[in-house]
Amino acid sequence: MDAEIISVGTEIVLGQIVNTNAAYLAKKLTQLDLPATYQTTVDDQPQRLERVINHALTRAQLVFVCGGLGPTADDITMPTVARTLGVDLQTDNQHWNWIQQTFKQRQIKMEPDNIRQAQYLKGGTPLKNPVGLALGCWDEINGKIVVVLPGPPAEFQAMVEESLIPKLKEHFQTGKQITSRTLNFLGRPESQLMSEIQEATQNETGISITSYVQPTAIQVRLTVRDLPKKEATTKINRVQKSILAFEKPYFFGVGDDLTLANVVVELLKEKNWKLTAAESLTGGMFQSTICSVPGASNIFDGGFVTYAASAKEELLGIPNGLIDRYGVVSSETAAAMAEGCRQKLNTKIGIGFTGVAGPDALENHPAGTVWVGLAIEGQPTKTVQLHLASYIGRQAIRTLSVQYGLQMIYR
Ligand code: ATP
Ligand code: MG
Repeated sequence: MDAEIISVGTEIVLGQIVNTNAAYLAKKLTQLDLPATYQTTVDDQPQRLERVINHALTRAQLVFVCGGLGPTADDITMPTVARTLGVDLQTDNQHWNWIQQTFKQRQIKMEPDNIRQAQYLKGGTPLKNPVGLALGCWDEINGKIVVVLPGPPAEFQAMVEESLIPKLKEHFQTGKQITSRTLNFLGRPESQLMSEIQEATQNETGISITSYVQPTAIQVRLTVRDLPKKEATTKINRVQKSILAFEKPYFFGVGDDLTLANVVVELLKEKNWKLTAAESLTGGMFQSTICSVPGASNIFDGGFVTYAASAKEELLGIPNGLIDRYGVVSSETAAAMAEGCRQKLNTKIGIGFTGVAGPDALENHPAGTVWVGLAIEGQPTKTVQLHLASYIGRQAIRTLSVQYGLQMIYR
């Protein structure tokens, strides 16, 4: 099964906007086991769009045409698709009435071209737009499926989620079962993780194991096809168990959209523990990551960004001379930061980040040298040194430091 995503827009080909819609759809298609094998981008020009659609129809069974459904002159997608497929346009009268009422209620003048947003391919199925005006369309023609979707990302995503995905599931998966699970790991290079996983599961057949590197995790997807749900789940459970026999320390949970921050917030909520942080090279990124999780207020009251040594001493009460003696980039400073912030805010956990974000070295340590300190009330303070690759750059060093800090708390 080949699928092709066609993105329509002069702004996209000129590099003025980033094609987030294609990335969004491609990811969803992969999850449905209908991966896109081609992506094409074309400007708002009917003849070129027609050629691109015709070309797609020679090599793909499933073609998505995305963008250009508005009422203005540069929005040419629906009529061009119709002409290319040799079908007429049809007006959805109910939707057209709704558009007219909406304009009246908002006291906006209608343009004659607004009717185009209620038009779809004759013989096809209109796709509802829950957050905008233009209809999309699903059409099955000569054994191919052609889907037309709007450009604005909010409309695009809503139509993909609410109309397209249910239709794809209905069309492609009746009778055929796909069962999958995503395992999330951090702290092991992908190549090493995957070769160990391969070894641990070499006797298993009928299961595909693939990996994706995300900025904050390595995702390993276990997929079983054509088995009843119950048997497939048993098989996936068994494979997960063999994998975790080796990789447990690096595993943080199941799910496509799971983040370590979510897992940590949940864990601390369960324990009824509060957390604070003192951040140097991460400059608040750890706290921002925690706050991006809904419900963070249950476990987080506040914390510190202490960049200069003087701020570390003043805000965290680190004894004078300690930083001078051991250096900013040291186990002792990380530990003192963790303990200092914990005591200042009287929380169960304090975490401290100090290190070299780069590009320049500091105290003779290359960029990527990071110390994380973890102080938990009633336990000895721990520190860990990270040797992140300098070449990944400043932002990635900061992001990964945060993730390793989260991992220390989770373990
Ligand atoms: P409108 O009624 O707003 O014109 P439309 O369906 O005609 O909707 P486009 O004209 O293709 O959509 O795009 C509208 C806007 O949506 C673009 O200016 C851009 O900001 C955004 N957009 C379109 N396509 C994409 C894309 N592939 N990725 C990200 N943003 C996009
Ligand atoms: Mg437009």
